[in-house]
Amino acid sequence: MAGKRDYYEVLGVSKDANDKELKKAFRSLARKYHPDKNSDPGADEKFKEIQEAFAILSDSDKRSQYDRFGHSGPGMGGGFSGFDIRYEDLFGSGLEDIFSSFFGGGGRSSRTRQSRGRSILVRKKIPFQMAFEGGSEEVTVDTFLPCEKCSGTGGAKPDDVDICATCRGQGQVTQTRQVGPFVQQTSGICPSCNGRGKTIINPCKSCRGDGRIKKKQTIRFNVPPGVDTGMRLRMRGKGHVSEHGGVAGDLEIELKLEQHPWFERDGSELLMSLPVGFPDLMLGKTLEIPHIDGKPLKLKIPPNSLAGHTLNITGRGLPTGRGRRGDVIILLKLHMPKKTDKGVKSKVESLRTELSISESDLENAILDEAKDRRS
Ligand SMILES: [Zn+2]
Ligand SMILES: [Zn+2]
Repeated sequence: MAGKRDYYEVLGVSKDANDKELKKAFRSLARKYHPDKNSDPGADEKFKEIQEAFAILSDSDKRSQYDRFGHSGPGMGGGFSGFDIRYEDLFGSGLEDIFSSFFGGGGRSSRTRQSRGRSILVRKKIPFQMAFEGGSEEVTVDTFLPCEKCSGTGGAKPDDVDICATCRGQGQVTQTRQVGPFVQQTSGICPSCNGRGKTIINPCKSCRGDGRIKKKQTIRFNVPPGVDTGMRLRMRGKGHVSEHGGVAGDLEIELKLEQHPWFERDGSELLMSLPVGFPDLMLGKTLEIPHIDGKPLKLKIPPNSLAGHTLNITGRGLPTGRGRRGDVIILLKLHMPKKTDKGVKSKVESLRTELSISESDLENAILDEAKDRRS
């Protein structure tokens, strides 16, 4: 397949690298490009590329096929969508689980299924400016965290946690029943331990055996440019931890963008109205207003402009996400002074004939207007 990098090159290992070297290379690259830690454009693709290379090279059958046929070999290619890897799993004990799924083992069913904690949803108001340049914000949430006293086990002492006798630590029980000529097997969560595989003999005083304690937590998060109201940012593993040291759920942050003093937003486009006096519409004018990107926005009203017309300033709106920016669209409105003294009125009166439509031209003017509208 053209354009695809060599798997050994991707992981930066030699052709005869052993499992240990592969794991080491994978681990360090995966930490570097994990989407939770690396928001660079392209990091996501890189992360997938690393996983794909590792998935192939860590499987001895696939690896020998790749060595012989390269990317065009049987079983190669096809859409690789990447694995669901948590950043925390790249450290400590979670790692073995990822690798066992990579190796296609799957045979280790004796492992108790870990329950996953609930996710948290919070809403956060952010300044409009963040839609342009992104930034960093924080939320404070009450989160169930592992109890520090018992390290989340729920037992007063390590000995106080025992393997569940009912399910022998499996977390599941299988029942076999004879139904007529058939043997029916049903399996379900163990009722004695609720699927945890463990029972607590003497519960921890601090968490009363729950293994978790609710605490206020302040969490900083990055807001990418281009965000809008209703968008949700997901932080993996920042939600509640489940009872007895399971896997933590996610924290979801729903953003609400504060209003800009004068812009309305339509995707990456910024819309505003500009009141302009009649002389400026007729003779034209250039003016400047402060703008979100720090450079003044130059508004050039051409001579003979009409109220209701729009000015389009390209590339000065919000980021589109592909390295470009939307436009600023300005609606011209006729400004009428609230108070005018007699002197001004008489000056305008003297220009009335020149600036108005004569009665004889009126019908034609109305017809032209209708044609414009209908075209
Ligand atoms: Zn505890
Ligand atoms: Zn049990």
